[in-house]
Amino acid sequence: MTTVDLDAVREIAAAVDDPELPHVTIGDLGMVRTVALDAGRVHVTLTPTYTGCPATEEILADVRSALAAADIDAEVKMVMSPAWTTDWITTAGREKLRAAGIAPPAPAGEHPTVMLDLPVACPRCGSRRTRRLGDFGATACKAPFRCEACKEPFESFKSL
Ligand SMILES: [Zn+2]
Repeated sequence: MTTVDLDAVREIAAAVDDPELPHVTIGDLGMVRTVALDAGRVHVTLTPTYTGCPATEEILADVRSALAAADIDAEVKMVMSPAWTTDWITTAGREKLRAAGIAPPAPAGEHPTVMLDLPVACPRCGSRRTRRLGDFGATACKAPFRCEACKEPFESFKSL
């Protein structure tokens, strides 16, 4: 008989910070896929966010050590399918992104191809008078923008 509390395992995994987004956890980003018990061992699967994000290995290591610190022996791995989508970012996660000065992706339900053509709203003042400065920000996951209203640069998550 095992006494592993799978809800607790999920909580510990979800509380791990995304290495590239301060104060945003991988739970906020909707990356924790499954937590299951198989042959007496806990198996955790995560979905990487943007393909090619270099943080993937770091996240795996962080989740493994967070679980190990709680004395949980778990197999942690990434699953590519189904592919992660920005729709999985939680409401709390979107608010944290905005608070961190990163424009959150389009809300779930809005058509992504339409959203790509709409100007991104400034996370500071809400103005849509924003300009994209290039294809990629500091990471492959975000694009750099500048707000023409408040003149502040910011980054935006790309909608997927
Ligand atoms: Zn602004």
